[in-house]
Amino acid sequence: MSEKKQPSRGWQGAIMKAFRADDFVLTVTGVEQVTEHYVRLGFAGGGLLAAIPVHPTMWVRGWFPSDDALHQRGYTLVDPDPETDTFHLEFTLHDGPAARWAQKAKAGDRLSVSVMGSKFDMPDPAPTRWLIAGDTASLAAINSLLDAFTGTGTDVAATIWFEHAHDDDRDLPLRVRPQDTVHWIRRERDGLGLVEAVKAAAFDASGAHAWVALDAASTRAVTAAFRSDFKLGRGGVKSRAYWRVGKPFA
Ligand SMILES: Cc1cc2nc3c(=O)[nH]c(=O)nc-3n(C[C@H](O)[C@H](O)[C@H](O)COP(=O)(O)OP(=O)(O)OC[C@H]3O[C@@H](n4cnc5c(N)ncnc54)[C@H](O)[C@@H]3O)c2cc1C
Repeated sequence: MSEKKQPSRGWQGAIMKAFRADDFVLTVTGVEQVTEHYVRLGFAGGGLLAAIPVHPTMWVRGWFPSDDALHQRGYTLVDPDPETDTFHLEFTLHDGPAARWAQKAKAGDRLSVSVMGSKFDMPDPAPTRWLIAGDTASLAAINSLLDAFTGTGTDVAATIWFEHAHDDDRDLPLRVRPQDTVHWIRRERDGLGLVEAVKAAAFDASGAHAWVALDAASTRAVTAAFRSDFKLGRGGVKSRAYWRVGKPFA
């Protein structure tokens, strides 16, 4: 009798092994369809939160099956609770291995994840305000930041440019505080709408700190605008591309 071939992690898996990434197996404990295009899954962490301290924007590299291989994709921990080793992951839905897996997930399903490269340090000195540009893929990370600001020296106002593709994205739970301003921007022209809105709002924001996570091209453009048009320089902006238009994001 032939054994079923296990999907492989390929070269990405080899690199992660070489860098001694920590591996865990998560178990789905619940499914909540937040909107037609956004799903939140509850997880038991398989020891993850006992092994690794929590920080804002903390993310894991999930291994999602497709075409007999495993594909690595980044997802952000939502409301991690080290005492119970539980958290949620939230998935914006489109046509890719990770989004498809999330759409079909049910309690008891398992997901292998590796942890490597996730970190976040609050800026020191504390900024005078926050400038944030993100979309539904970075909603969980933005919420973790807004939660982390509360009660700290960084609890100053945030201006958020939030890109969304669907009408029901407006129902997503963005955890804004009374002092924050949100510009909801409909995704258009491959992200140019948001890039132009940010540039049009430019002012001398010296002393502020910016955080950017959009598709790769928009991330580059908005990061450049914050650095030069808003006068924040390299040290005043943290940014990371969260996905790529028309291509898998390995
Ligand atoms: C540090 C980090 C944290 C992240 N956290 C989250 C998170 O918490 N929740 C979350 O939903 N995403 C998150 N992302 C983004 C997610 O990893 C990517 O969207 C990833 O490409 C999804 O993989 P996939 O297999 O579904 O699609 P892929 O195989 O990567 O792509 C397939 C197709 O879908 C398109 N696509 C991919 N992502 C998007 C998108 N967001 N919107 C529209 N089209 C898209 C691609 O352009 C491509 O055409 C994070 C990324 C990083 C780097």
